[in-house]
Amino acid sequence: MQLNPHSTSKAFIRVISVICGVTLLSVFAQNREIDWEKQKAEILRHYRALVQINTSSPPGNETKAVEYLKKVLEAEGIPTRTFALDPNRANLVARLKGNGSKRPLLILAHTDVVPVQMEKWQVDPFGAVMKDGYVWGRGTIDDKDKLVSMLMMMILIKRSAVTLDRDVIFLAESGEEADTTGVGINFMVNQHFDEINAEFAITEGGSARLENGHVVTVNIGTTEKVPRRARLVATGTSGHGSVPRVDNPVTHLAMALGKLGTWEPQMHLNETTRTYFDRLAAVSPPDKAARYRALLDPQRAPQVQRYFAENEPSVYSMIRTSVVPTMLKAGVGANVIPSEAEATLDIRALPGEDIDEFYAEMKRVINDPAVKIVPIPATRPEAPPSRLDTDAYRAFEKVSKQMYPGAVVLPSMSTGASDMAQLRAKGIQSYGIGPAVTEEDRLMYGAHSDVERLSEASLYRLVEFTWNAVMEIAAKK
Ligand SMILES: [Zn+2]
Repeated sequence: MQLNPHSTSKAFIRVISVICGVTLLSVFAQNREIDWEKQKAEILRHYRALVQINTSSPPGNETKAVEYLKKVLEAEGIPTRTFALDPNRANLVARLKGNGSKRPLLILAHTDVVPVQMEKWQVDPFGAVMKDGYVWGRGTIDDKDKLVSMLMMMILIKRSAVTLDRDVIFLAESGEEADTTGVGINFMVNQHFDEINAEFAITEGGSARLENGHVVTVNIGTTEKVPRRARLVATGTSGHGSVPRVDNPVTHLAMALGKLGTWEPQMHLNETTRTYFDRLAAVSPPDKAARYRALLDPQRAPQVQRYFAENEPSVYSMIRTSVVPTMLKAGVGANVIPSEAEATLDIRALPGEDIDEFYAEMKRVINDPAVKIVPIPATRPEAPPSRLDTDAYRAFEKVSKQMYPGAVVLPSMSTGASDMAQLRAKGIQSYGIGPAVTEEDRLMYGAHSDVERLSEASLYRLVEFTWNAVMEIAAKK
């Protein structure tokens, strides 16, 4: 679609604006106007095409997605560069130049997705099937919705010829979900930082909540929990399955997991979560508000823990370092007692958690010398939260108010991890955004769930939200 079919009329407006000296602002405002109704088909086409490219990681094969993006961008006259540590897992960078009066804005999304269990899906997870107003498929909400949003930013900025105060850099990065060899953000930050260095970054890590068809909260990711995974390794004596042994490592491992499963690590609030629950209470119905307020009160907090564990697990995770068993490995045959049994724990630490002390606490909880805690090397650095007093954060607040009147904007701590950790560690003020979803969507069809989906309407609004924010941050003032 041509956004500015009449370059002559644009030139005419420029002449008039120079003469009058007053309409410059309105010209830029005009360029920024997008007919979103007309944009839908193109957004959907790219989105579905990207979901249909199977980039489940490992192995990722993100280069296939990069090839798609490259073709689309270059057809628009936007040059691209690719950077690959592994040729199958390339990263793509494209830059639209600004006038250099401000430092760049980086918009990024990851191209890989988590694996699928085929039997859990009623539709092809890589079909981008459209049903009941939703697009279904792995990556529909993590992270191909942001990927297509960032792609559309580049396309629309280029076509509408918006004047930029700062460069807008697009990074489509590999290996966010499983980056054991450092092909994605680590490679870009360590080897090609000049290509992506920016004042601000926008990427995944936020969300918005839909209730009765209205957006009630807009979460902007400003900090996140830190993955500090570990393996639990139980050892014992191998032997014949017909002879029970008290040191059977499978039994010891199971008991250790049982203890960890019922253990409740110490609750802790930080500035972000305190602000978050306080603001959330202000816009919640009385029963919910009372529970959020109870969290802020040390006397009452213990009483509401169980409710959150059972009904709002993401809130439960936001207030403590969490320990979640995710994988088990033991045994070679039904009649063989193995000498070792192993579990993987997905531990997500609150920012600032002393992890060595936390492991020591876990050891006391397990209280079994046959079970060892073996830390898995950290893949992400810890970094201070992004600030709330920046032009970027103010832009999100302004745009949220414009698009979703009455919604409250919440600075939020993600329980998940994102590549913002590496960017924040390099001093880039990084903010997470995301589409509006219902409570059911969030619990049943969210990131890394058995089945993922995103409503078509939310997809379009996300692209529009991103555009408005990017224009606020980067377009010439
Ligand atoms: Zn993601």
